[in-house]
Amino acid sequence: MRDWPAVTWVIDVDGVVWLAGTPIPGAPEAIRRLRDAGERVVFVSNNSGPTLAEYTSRLATAGVEACQADLVTSAQAAASMLSPGQRAAVVGAEGIREALAERGVTVVASDAVPGPDAVVVGRSTTLDYDELAAASTAIRDGARFVATNTDATYPTGDGPLPGAGAVVAFVATASGRHPEVAGKPYRAAAELVRSRFGSPRVMIGDRPDTDGAFAIAVGAPFALVLSGCTTAADLPVTPAPTLVAADLAGAVEQLLAGTG
Ligand SMILES: [Mg+2]
Repeated sequence: MRDWPAVTWVIDVDGVVWLAGTPIPGAPEAIRRLRDAGERVVFVSNNSGPTLAEYTSRLATAGVEACQADLVTSAQAAASMLSPGQRAAVVGAEGIREALAERGVTVVASDAVPGPDAVVVGRSTTLDYDELAAASTAIRDGARFVATNTDATYPTGDGPLPGAGAVVAFVATASGRHPEVAGKPYRAAAELVRSRFGSPRVMIGDRPDTDGAFAIAVGAPFALVLSGCTTAADLPVTPAPTLVAADLAGAVEQLLAGTG
């Protein structure tokens, strides 16, 4: 066995546990295997869309039991960058509004008077030009520009779809401002994980640019799985993973065997 302390296993969700809600074969069993071995498993996702209840419900449907305390989302990371009592506008889905409310931040419209303290931008599947225009104007007029994450794509079983990064790029171009980014691999998400779970044993994910860099940010080895955004044809990647596996089941197998 590797001489790593037996602490939390941090597992990405999209492209690792499931593809757009459909479980990746072997993933639910691998998570059960870890828990049967006494390991703590937490899920860190850059998908800011679902509420925590939607996450646990979808995970349960996919065969993975999880409680809300097992989840860290980019929506929570974005909310952690704001202060209770502040007012924020949202371009994105319900998960962001829930995280802001939990933080004590009031959600207002982008064109509220006075203007919002911040505009939080995440992946949205119901984009509206007027909404994007109002958000861009609020940012140009001085609101903080907080992006939940900048993943270019969102992995599905039918290939990648536009991710939050594509929406953020629209607002950045229109407002002429750069976002402060909350989710993996950035500091707000890393601080959330470290403050809640300490230093993880391993970070398992499908994207070197987010999950690999996040592993470095939280001081954990990076296990890359090829079941999501990265394929064997993309190798080698930077940052270099500690191990590469076809999927979560393979990564868990190697790590528990001490061969990873
Ligand atoms: Mg992923």
